[in-house]
Amino acid sequence: MIKQALISVSDKTGVLDFARALSAMGVNILSTGGTAKLLADNGVAVTEVADYTGFPEMLDGRVKTLHPMVHGGILARRDFPEHMAKLAEHNIPTIDMVVVNLYPFQATVAKDDCTLEDAIENIDIGGPAMLRSSAKNHKDVVVICDPTDYSKVLDEIKANDGVVSYDTRFGLATKVYSHTAQYDGAIANYLTSLDASRSHAARGTYPQSLNVAFEKVQDMRYGENPHQSAAFYRDVTATAGALANYRQLQGKELSFNNIADADAAWECVKSMGGFDQSAACVIVKHANPCGVALGANAVEAYKRALQTDPTSAFGGIIAFNVEVDGAAATELAKLFVEVLIAPSFTAEAKQILSAKQNVRLLEIPLGTGVNAMDFKRVGGGLLVQSADAKNVLISDLKVVTKLQPTQQQLQDLMFAWRVAKYVKSNAIVFCANNMTLGVGAGQMSRIDSARIASIKAQNAGLSLENSVVASDAFFPFRDGLDVVVDAGARCVIQPGGSMRDQEVIDAADERGVVMLYTGTRHFRH
Ligand code: 5GP
Repeated sequence: MIKQALISVSDKTGVLDFARALSAMGVNILSTGGTAKLLADNGVAVTEVADYTGFPEMLDGRVKTLHPMVHGGILARRDFPEHMAKLAEHNIPTIDMVVVNLYPFQATVAKDDCTLEDAIENIDIGGPAMLRSSAKNHKDVVVICDPTDYSKVLDEIKANDGVVSYDTRFGLATKVYSHTAQYDGAIANYLTSLDASRSHAARGTYPQSLNVAFEKVQDMRYGENPHQSAAFYRDVTATAGALANYRQLQGKELSFNNIADADAAWECVKSMGGFDQSAACVIVKHANPCGVALGANAVEAYKRALQTDPTSAFGGIIAFNVEVDGAAATELAKLFVEVLIAPSFTAEAKQILSAKQNVRLLEIPLGTGVNAMDFKRVGGGLLVQSADAKNVLISDLKVVTKLQPTQQQLQDLMFAWRVAKYVKSNAIVFCANNMTLGVGAGQMSRIDSARIASIKAQNAGLSLENSVVASDAFFPFRDGLDVVVDAGARCVIQPGGSMRDQEVIDAADERGVVMLYTGTRHFRH
């Protein structure tokens, strides 16, 4: 039974209703200054912790709840007679519920003008202490650090005559320790990222030790292969638009490879804004796009993307940057698909796709959020870099040949370049009219990627005559360029930067094609 609760929150969302409901059930409420004022002003009976302990809040709030009346009441083991005798001896009542959220340290240091002084004043002391005390003693205490848990706990209390189950208490305590670990991690990250003068956090400086917080979304039946175990974790800071914020509408459980491929498809399709046609479709197999196209609507984009490589598209992962409607769903239902991703599906589309119950439908709101840090595991270590968030603009392009591109070629080059960024290196991507014609991916030599891309276009019955081609990194020799020009490309986009750039530029002039440099490379391994 919960007789007494201590509520001390910086984020006051939902706390008034929660406290009111507790109070209505006869729970005695203790609270710190700001929280107590809010409750009292709104008619909730509350005792200030300062009155309860007989000590005023002091040192600008640095010391509010650090008192044996508070921590004794939380930490005493109810089933240990000596503990209970000690409480009685010192006249300390038990505290059965602790509701705390912490000073907004992360939000404070995220501000451009945050000083070290501001950051330090926003390091919460008593809050984490109470969270840790009550989570440690979760056998007897309910601890809540997240306002979204208020209603769940209230429902349980109402349904079970004032009792919160052990499973719930254990779950809430577990949440507390990841929450405080993340909080301390943010403090350590901030302090280690300060510049020499300690006046502000130096940008791009990686901390001495990494403190990142992920929470488990789901266990998986297996990993990349059936003999590997696996789970999926979500970055606790993930924002709208992140794959990990997906909502599954139907279909089997997502597998490890599904999620990896879904991410590749989603990242690519999300980047397809700013073209003259607004709908984009990306079909991915084994982490590589095997068809990407724009269209006037979802169905047109899909039909065009499918043309690039209908063979590989079988069992693929397909992503859209627009709502999937009935027309698109009707076409999609004809193909064996593993996962379909879109910002939304119309009711008609859901109805049509419900006939294919194995297809996993994921809704993810479009958002701009990108991972700030990119990780790659290596034997005994971790490589950390900022994510490849760079998008080349038309104004960044430099024509290096005698021939200039037409407006149409420029548009196609931008599209081809955008796709190439999401193809594993070495990447060669032939395109025309906002559609991929041949994709060469993941080869150990650029010339082989070029050959494969042109063979794939041939296999799909697509002509490369007058196409454009993107290469994710420079051509080290003229031979790769010769292969793409022989195949029919008239316009080439690549970063430049090879010691043999001049040889390749001369070859382009000799063959009468246009070549542009981006100045940016998009290796993807
Ligand atoms: P209030 O708005 O109620 O005055 O303050 C609530 C905040 O104070 C909560 O974020 C809580 O974690 C924090 N807090 C509670 N006790 C202490 C303490 O003894 N020292 C510090 N520094 N913060 C505390």
